[in-house]
Amino acid sequence: MKKLNALVATAALAVTATSVAAQERFITIGTGGQTGVYFVVGQSICRLVNRGTAEHNLKCTAPSTGGSIANINAISAGDMDMGVAQSDWQFHAFNGTSEFEGKQFDKLRAVFSVHGEPFTVVARKDSGAANFEDLFGKRVNVGNPGSGQRATMDVVLSALGKSDADFSLASELKPAEQSAALGDNKVDAIIYTVGHPNGSIQEATSTVDAVILPVTGEAIDKLVDENPYYAKAVIPGGMYKGTDNDVDTFGVKATFVTSADVPDDVVYTVVKAVFDNFDRFKGLHPAFADLAEADMISAGLSAPLHPGAEQYYRERGWIQ
Ligand code: GLU
Repeated sequence: MKKLNALVATAALAVTATSVAAQERFITIGTGGQTGVYFVVGQSICRLVNRGTAEHNLKCTAPSTGGSIANINAISAGDMDMGVAQSDWQFHAFNGTSEFEGKQFDKLRAVFSVHGEPFTVVARKDSGAANFEDLFGKRVNVGNPGSGQRATMDVVLSALGKSDADFSLASELKPAEQSAALGDNKVDAIIYTVGHPNGSIQEATSTVDAVILPVTGEAIDKLVDENPYYAKAVIPGGMYKGTDNDVDTFGVKATFVTSADVPDDVVYTVVKAVFDNFDRFKGLHPAFADLAEADMISAGLSAPLHPGAEQYYRERGWIQ
């Protein structure tokens, strides 16, 4: 009898475990390198989502990835559910232009935008470079394939009538490797389209004498004038060692995107987790400090909003 009871109890336990597992749904958010801000965006969203798993059964993970282009491709392939991507690459993926020519992802959906990302160029002081054009003929880390900065770098180069070949070296190190490469004199400059302040640029500017270079001029003005997903941007003086004055450049927005194939209730739950706990979210990284809900549901978004996000924004009275 005793044995039978134990068997019954084990069976009951097994049934409970199976039904919980059957209900649990896993979602994956594509981020960027571990030293960037996208990683913190994904980790922060998942942290807020996972606090409510007992109620909604969603379990969220946010692994490190190659960045914007890699995330959009993974969502398009159905390998990831959501991801962070620069506003320029959201636009091009949805419209099938630039890097996404012939690979249009018309099911791409916007969820919200996050922090601004200035196109940030850090050069060793001993390189003698004072602006972006001075880098031609020098060793530059143009970024890993799949990253937003690499793709945006290509746009900047072609706007200037140049290419990678105009550098003496165009290396493809990941964000997590490039600050050390700058410090070790393997390259003269690194680029990163990233929110500020961040640990990666801090590392780059504190391990060696380095300066943040302005990215300005007619070609940049034209890019900003002609494209809604670019804007003028400033990296505040005093934020990093060696750069005491504001630096002019241009930039994009980090945006959070998904696919029309991801169910409405999943996107709704994720969006609700973020905006019901917005103060907590903003406290998770200094680059989020100035975020405002009204901007986040429109600025930098070119793909249509996902219906699950719209539902939450409507409930809050933020859209009609
Ligand atoms: N903007 C970069 C990219 O698209 C990532 C920046 C970050 O990780 O914070 O690859």
